[in-house]
Amino acid sequence: MLIFEYKLDGSKAQYAAMDEAIRIVQFIRNKCLRVWMDERGISKNDLQRYCAVLAKDYPFATQLNSQARQASADRAWCAISRFYDNCKSHKPGKKGYPKFQHNNRSIEYKQTGWKLEPDGKHITLTDGCDIGCLRLVGNPKQKIAAFPPKQIKRVRIVHRADGYYVQFGVKAERTIVHQPTGKQVGIDVGLKVYYTDSDGNTVDNPRQYRKAEQKLKRLQRQLSRKQKKSANRKKARQHLARAHLKVQRQREDFARKTASTLVSSHDVIAYEDLKIRTMVRNHHLAKSIHDAAWGTFISWVKAYGLMHNVPIIAVAPHFTSQECSACGALVKKSLSVRTHICPSCGVVLDRDHNAALNILAKALACTLGHRETSGSPGNASGQTASTRLSPRKTSKRAG
Ligand SMILES: [Zn+2]
Repeated sequence: MLIFEYKLDGSKAQYAAMDEAIRIVQFIRNKCLRVWMDERGISKNDLQRYCAVLAKDYPFATQLNSQARQASADRAWCAISRFYDNCKSHKPGKKGYPKFQHNNRSIEYKQTGWKLEPDGKHITLTDGCDIGCLRLVGNPKQKIAAFPPKQIKRVRIVHRADGYYVQFGVKAERTIVHQPTGKQVGIDVGLKVYYTDSDGNTVDNPRQYRKAEQKLKRLQRQLSRKQKKSANRKKARQHLARAHLKVQRQREDFARKTASTLVSSHDVIAYEDLKIRTMVRNHHLAKSIHDAAWGTFISWVKAYGLMHNVPIIAVAPHFTSQECSACGALVKKSLSVRTHICPSCGVVLDRDHNAALNILAKALACTLGHRETSGSPGNASGQTASTRLSPRKTSKRAG
């Protein structure tokens, strides 16, 4: 699924109509949740059927396209099933009991309720919400109208701090012809630098958040000084929201570009599968970790890996910074020690460079078995594969 995004240009009345439609989505979601809370044991199908009941009981709900109504019910189900899954898997801590939503910002249409105009620059929402025809503002090279309408599986309208946007979910795959470079790399994401690779190269941390931090602080202060429910408070809130949106976009943009450069210049990439959630709980590091936005970066690396058909290998994060990459000896060090000095073999490396070398070595050790099977089918790992298959065959025959 590819996502194409445009900003929407319309009149004030149209924006108000979109707000109203967004409220209907939230209303349906919350109603579905209420039903689930009152009558336990309700299934996804029951919620879908309940949509029709809601439409009968509340005339304003019928204004929204029927598939969009169902998508709203699906959202409620999404929250419910996540809660069930967490309970079943005995997830430690809170299980995420579904909550009523009060700040919904989006509508999801499927394949009906909207129409792309023939000029490819306008979208008309054809349901009863009276949103009408909106102009698409975006990169002129990005042509959503070039895709057959059947391939557009989802249309999502999102309200952000600086306006309304539409996202088209297109069922298509993007592939890029990868120029082989013969280079394999392990990367270690860090606080001081964005990442360090196993060749010792580093990419500097942009630290947009730190730069913007002063500004955000000032805006936050201004907001808290304003009287509650006043027009000035509303304005201050919008200023702050826009500043946050800007930082978020800069971060996303940097992560994406860096990931693209990394993937297109290597044939194998290994990274450390950090549990970001648990690390963020460490308060001293929290801000920098969010700032570096590793999660975003890694997900872009994976996405570009798919496009380029480059393997992206996750490695368990045990001892990658403690082990010596040259001789394998354990060299204990705290986070503040930035250099790896091995007492047994005398290697001196930057801490992150050593970790990146370990990550690459681990990843290559994991994939080695697969490579051998593809190279010569008669070896040991090939045999284990066939023995793994044989019990299944016999059990089938026995059954
Ligand atoms: Zn050593």
